[in-house]
Amino acid sequence: MPNMPEYKLYAIRYATRAGRRQDNFIGGDPHDGPMPMDYFVWIVVGPQRCFVVDCGFTAEVAEERRRTYLRNPVDALTLLGLRGEDVEDVILTHLHYDHVGNFARFPKARFHIQESELAYATGKYMRHPFLSHAFEVEDVVGMIRLNFRGRIVFHDGDAELAPGLRLHLVGGHSAGLQFVSVHTARGWVVLASDVTHYYENMESGRPFTTTFHVGDTLEGYAKIRAVAASDDHIVPGHDPIVMQIYPAAAPELENIAVRLDLAPKPRR
Ligand SMILES: [Zn+2]
Repeated sequence: MPNMPEYKLYAIRYATRAGRRQDNFIGGDPHDGPMPMDYFVWIVVGPQRCFVVDCGFTAEVAEERRRTYLRNPVDALTLLGLRGEDVEDVILTHLHYDHVGNFARFPKARFHIQESELAYATGKYMRHPFLSHAFEVEDVVGMIRLNFRGRIVFHDGDAELAPGLRLHLVGGHSAGLQFVSVHTARGWVVLASDVTHYYENMESGRPFTTTFHVGDTLEGYAKIRAVAASDDHIVPGHDPIVMQIYPAAAPELENIAVRLDLAPKPRR
């Protein structure tokens, strides 16, 4: 496609936790064993504009939820030459605590979310701890305050935010979960976020344990595969493998930030 901008694309790893395979698949796993989880934010840098995809949780929430906090993800933007206070566009794939917690660190930004996600996070299902436990109520209230200030951009389905940068509604894991596709030098890369937490959720067709709608999650696997140039162009939301196969953004950023617009090593 001529004139389609090619974006640089980064993942910053900001937290981690231990886990077992049985925690990560509905119905458990017959071969239980360790399966840790990483937490990321993603940065899309274009010739004209840059976009932050999700903003992670805070140190306070890390402590409450007993996650191992490696760095504040907004502070870590400076490692890539960006500052939270300069960012104009933040895409929120969904409103779970690990994707929205640092919103206040972006005082100038517009926040792009699916209308169905805010409806879900403020609606009847939140009386069920099984579904609400993945949200921090103060984050949800914060989104409402931002909306009253005109700083939320609602999307209702798929949307093109800029040439070469698109949002795609899936639902499933959370009712208004969206993923992001980005045109890069190696073709269309999909930031799947929690459409697939691990490569293995998608590849074995077994959704992650936190799921609002199983059918939408299963359909989501097909949707990310249809948009990405190949399965190696899909970046799962929480898989530690991502840090192992993609090149570091700079020699000193090994294990902190990787380039997703460059080809990964083979996974196995
Ligand atoms: Zn998540």
